[in-house]
Amino acid sequence: MPERPPYYLTTPIYYVNARPHLGTAYSTIVTDTIARYKRAQGFDVFFLTGTDEHGQKIQRSAKAMNCTPQEFVDKMAAEFRALWDKLGLSYTDFIRTTEPRHKKSVQRLFTLLQERGYIYKGFYTGQYCVTDEAWVDVGPGEPCPDCGRITETVTEENYFFRLSAYQDRLIELYEQAGFHAYHLAEHHATPLGMAPSPSVFLAAVAQRTKTLRFGPLVYTVNLYHPLRLIDEICMLDQLSGGRLELGIGRGISPYEVGYYGVDPATGPERFAEALDVILKGLTEKRLSHHGKYFTFEDVPMEMQPVQRPHPPLWYGVSIPDSKLKGVTLESYRVT
Ligand SMILES: [Zn+2]
Repeated sequence: MPERPPYYLTTPIYYVNARPHLGTAYSTIVTDTIARYKRAQGFDVFFLTGTDEHGQKIQRSAKAMNCTPQEFVDKMAAEFRALWDKLGLSYTDFIRTTEPRHKKSVQRLFTLLQERGYIYKGFYTGQYCVTDEAWVDVGPGEPCPDCGRITETVTEENYFFRLSAYQDRLIELYEQAGFHAYHLAEHHATPLGMAPSPSVFLAAVAQRTKTLRFGPLVYTVNLYHPLRLIDEICMLDQLSGGRLELGIGRGISPYEVGYYGVDPATGPERFAEALDVILKGLTEKRLSHHGKYFTFEDVPMEMQPVQRPHPPLWYGVSIPDSKLKGVTLESYRVT
């Protein structure tokens, strides 16, 4: 008799800072539908759901209800489970992150990764949105781009996973999987990005791929001398046979540009001028420019990009049209 092939699926493990709602019910009902369909097809289905019971949001919700975080999550997890049972959802197991079996497995995985050198300690300073449990790219005291609530400046010592150790293999898998493009963030002095010089890293990407388009997300223009950046853009476009996507930006973290001694206040003006220089340099044979921040006289532009007049240019914005007065670009990518 043929064995039933295993089939595993899971819902997200839901945050228990609030009671279950239509969104959480929807995900779980969809998962239940797939589980039942697979069972009918003869699969040995393991359908997991559960609750994620950590985070500041939960700590604060517990405080507001005058109970301990554990009492709070016990109550909420029971509500989730009761609702799934009421709806008749056919989950195989319900896991809670505060359960001993979950803690034990996480500790085992963490220890294994640490022994193999994939976990390291680092610092991060940035703006944190407590409601969304997420780091956001805004200045100190500015609101969260997603929910509009005021963010908090947080410096955190934490353990980080060395994803960069897998980057070379990942990039080849992206190409095999048919991805259109790969974008690399530029970060400095933070574990958020372990490839602080995008051009250096992207040169390796160009060598390891044949069809995948790639580019920085984005070049922090104010950290570059514009002539140097033109050279790097041309080099990458040449190395890859014209696969570079040219993303540019002002530098969104005042901390990171601050480490380089760049005054965030001069950012927009210097950025606009540098972009003007870069576009001229990519499209003209000789570069002359007389501005507030840069002066160049008849510089021969020996290298040119493969893609004419220049690689596709785009700029990431959180709110359309908010930041680019006086700068003309071919496309915006709203992030
Ligand atoms: Zn938010």
